[in-house]
Amino acid sequence: MLFSADQKVHVDKQGALKESLQTVDGTFQSERKRTLGLCDIQLNGFAGIDFNNPNLNPEDFHLSMQALLRTGVTNVLPTLITANQGDLYRNFEALERARAFSPIAQMMVKGYHLEGPFLNPAQGFAGCHPSQFMGRKPSWEKFVSWQAAAGGRIRLLTVAPEMPGVLELITKCVESGVRVSLGHTNASHEDIRKAVGAGASLSTHLGNGVAQLLPKVDNPILSQLAEDGLTASFIADGFHQKPHVLRVYIKAKGSDRTILVSDGTAASGTVPGTYYLGATKIQSKPEGVVHLFGTQNLAGSAATLLECLQNVMSWYNTSLEQGITWTSIQPRKLLGWPTTQNVGDLAELLEWEYINDRWTPASVQLGTQIIKIH
Ligand SMILES: [Zn+2]
Repeated sequence: MLFSADQKVHVDKQGALKESLQTVDGTFQSERKRTLGLCDIQLNGFAGIDFNNPNLNPEDFHLSMQALLRTGVTNVLPTLITANQGDLYRNFEALERARAFSPIAQMMVKGYHLEGPFLNPAQGFAGCHPSQFMGRKPSWEKFVSWQAAAGGRIRLLTVAPEMPGVLELITKCVESGVRVSLGHTNASHEDIRKAVGAGASLSTHLGNGVAQLLPKVDNPILSQLAEDGLTASFIADGFHQKPHVLRVYIKAKGSDRTILVSDGTAASGTVPGTYYLGATKIQSKPEGVVHLFGTQNLAGSAATLLECLQNVMSWYNTSLEQGITWTSIQPRKLLGWPTTQNVGDLAELLEWEYINDRWTPASVQLGTQIIKIH
């Protein structure tokens, strides 16, 4: 969905659209285009601030949301990874306090993503998550306590369906309106199918969170690619997958089941250096890759969702309209959120200009705020 960039956007004092926007289609020839803002459903931190910190400072969170908005993201699911039960509880409380403090966060954060702790702790599948907190029997009561601390805003939960008790948890979460995703999993094809039957609808960063060596026939990547009930998210930072591999994944999954995420960390939107992801030290290198400190293991990314979008547009000659579908429309659709802008909706708009052979965001509008990007 593209909007005409020639129309003046009128909003009320709350930032809600006063008039409907004129739409154009992908064949519309213009050096300027307007789209919905980006939606990142997997972001662990930004601009030096780690969201996986039970002592998260509201002011810091506010600043990180402001920095995120300047990269075109108007809607985000701050993501917590595996930690012990009490830390997760305190962390969600801290996120809620920070959200209440920041008007901009209240507009951008309509939900959270909990990636863990009911994941596969085996080496290679646990990824950078602390495996000592995985592998416990899932309990609906634990989830409910985290959901209460999160103000009911956990909208997405990533689990490994082969772990005992997880299928029952999927059913209960889906019944309560939470979307369930599969990740950090070594599930058999049968378990993947059971998870989809129980209501799972997404694969988290498919192709990552798996061992380097996998059986050639029954492996969790192929099983999830084959399952049409699952949309898949991919990290298009150029490090989690080589561009030619991601191309195969997107072709296999199909364009209308593809979502791009950043899986960004405190290292995103800032300079290379040493940061934290929860209790884990991570190192962001000048070339843009993030490793567990002192190792070659990936630990989230330093990319922004905008960079991921611009990567696929340059790697595959993907149109802006298609790229926006993967980075804005389909994530919202998965979460059951509106995928266009109607009268009365909070303005969440990006203006693009075609400069030096590529689409570049010129400004972002969130409510009454318009920020120039370049
Ligand atoms: Zn992960």
